[in-house]
Amino acid sequence: MKTIQFYGADWCPDCQRAKAFLKENNIDFNFIDVDLDKEATAKVEGINNGKRIIPTVIINDKPLTNPDNSVLASVLGINKEGRVLLYGAGWCPDCQRAKSYLQSNEINFQYIEVDKHDWAAKKVEGINNGKRIIPTILINDKSYTNPDNSILKEVLKIGQESEQKVFDSIIVGAGAAGLTTAIYVQRDRFSSLILEKKNIGGNAFLTEKIENYPGFTNISGPDLMQKMAEQAKVYGAEIQTGVSVNKISKEGNLFYIETNMGQYKSKSVVLSVGSTYRKLGIGNEEELVGAGIHFCATCDGAFYRDREVIVIGGGNSALEEGIFLASFCKKVIIVNRNETFSASETYIEKLPSIKNIEVLSNKESLEFLKNEEDNFKGLKIKDKVTGEIEEVIADGAFIFIGLIPNTDFIKGQVALNKQNFITTNGLAETSVEGIFAAGDCREGAIAQVAAATGEGVLASYGVRDYLKN
Ligand SMILES: Cc1cc2nc3c(=O)[nH]c(=O)nc-3n(C[C@H](O)[C@H](O)[C@H](O)COP(=O)(O)OP(=O)(O)OC[C@H]3O[C@@H](n4cnc5c(N)ncnc54)[C@H](O)[C@@H]3O)c2cc1C
Repeated sequence: MKTIQFYGADWCPDCQRAKAFLKENNIDFNFIDVDLDKEATAKVEGINNGKRIIPTVIINDKPLTNPDNSVLASVLGINKEGRVLLYGAGWCPDCQRAKSYLQSNEINFQYIEVDKHDWAAKKVEGINNGKRIIPTILINDKSYTNPDNSILKEVLKIGQESEQKVFDSIIVGAGAAGLTTAIYVQRDRFSSLILEKKNIGGNAFLTEKIENYPGFTNISGPDLMQKMAEQAKVYGAEIQTGVSVNKISKEGNLFYIETNMGQYKSKSVVLSVGSTYRKLGIGNEEELVGAGIHFCATCDGAFYRDREVIVIGGGNSALEEGIFLASFCKKVIIVNRNETFSASETYIEKLPSIKNIEVLSNKESLEFLKNEEDNFKGLKIKDKVTGEIEEVIADGAFIFIGLIPNTDFIKGQVALNKQNFITTNGLAETSVEGIFAAGDCREGAIAQVAAATGEGVLASYGVRDYLKN
């Protein structure tokens, strides 16, 4: 790890103060006496526009001129409960979640970007048996690999003020539906808290490009979701990430929300927990999601105009989306694990007339293939009758083998349909008075960002009427 360069002099009181603070906190530093080293003097003058101001402290290439102890504490992650170093990267959702949790609880931490510092990447690999898992967080030299917020809370003895408060509405899930609900609930002058188990943004955060959200011809998923979150915060919504809701119960007019971070209370609840695209669970799938492997033809199909794609599945979605892709792709290869399709006849009848669709039936998907640059190359399949193994080469793949709503935790508490989607009436009301549902977790949802925001609006109206009554 890079040492801290401390430029100072023995006679300088602020140097003594800063040195003592670092020593008290067991932080190593390299002390350079500017009175004895001409190069050091020149360096200090270079940093401070020709002035010889000491102490000048350089921490990970960042110079600080006579920093007071609170600045040192903030930059070096020094707290009452210990020193916190967070190794992470800008693109990593769990790093964002952990950073925002520490920031919202006023915990100082030193953030070290592993993509920028080789020594930091090596440090992380050393801690995690050669694997570069982030965030890796050191708290008083003890390492925690991707700790969830409940662990950070316990180790850093963080209290949770919001647990005591009764919110007008608690919204579960910070995707498009949840964030929109919060915007509207807040504008109706009700208080809201969004509890999100991962990072802000939901499924839309996973997509690089959104071209079908009204008002934006092209916006990245993270940017769009960031804008929605900022808007919700502007109107006063509170958002806590890393909080996974496990159970909801009602006593009198109050809802008790049990989470990994403790209990929360509210007068109404909106479930906007979304759904997860069912994956195949085969090799290289996780690494290639969003970069060769997709789950939404309307969203990502345009990237494959005049190119060849594989569609995996045999139900309505697979055929509907496959036919849609064939209208602009050079070729669509449908890989169906069964002999026949389970889709409706309307789709099946259309297939033979579409010349650029090839159907491979009775094929089991074994693993996705990568090329030498680690990019998507194709799919390895096995014929279920002959056992023959084949490689299907293409530019991308779309998986349509169903959606799984994230509703396990409320089974038995609100009514779900056979596929575990939440059933609601036309006003977004669930089977429990005071609990509303919006977005992809709801039966009949269209599974698009614009649709999820619309459902958020509907749920907020339900909340408003319920609270007023
Ligand atoms: C790769 C990809 C690309 C897409 N591209 C597009 C596109 O281009 N255009 C488009 O319109 N749509 C697109 N979609 C679909 C779109 O993302 C969804 O329709 C939309 O995100 C649904 O929003 P939502 O708020 O209902 O649910 P989600 O976005 O799924 O958000 C639900 C949130 O709830 C949280 N949550 C779940 N359970 C709990 C719990 N127990 N406690 C706390 N939090 C919980 C989740 O972590 C998640 O953040 C895409 C989807 C994917 C996966």
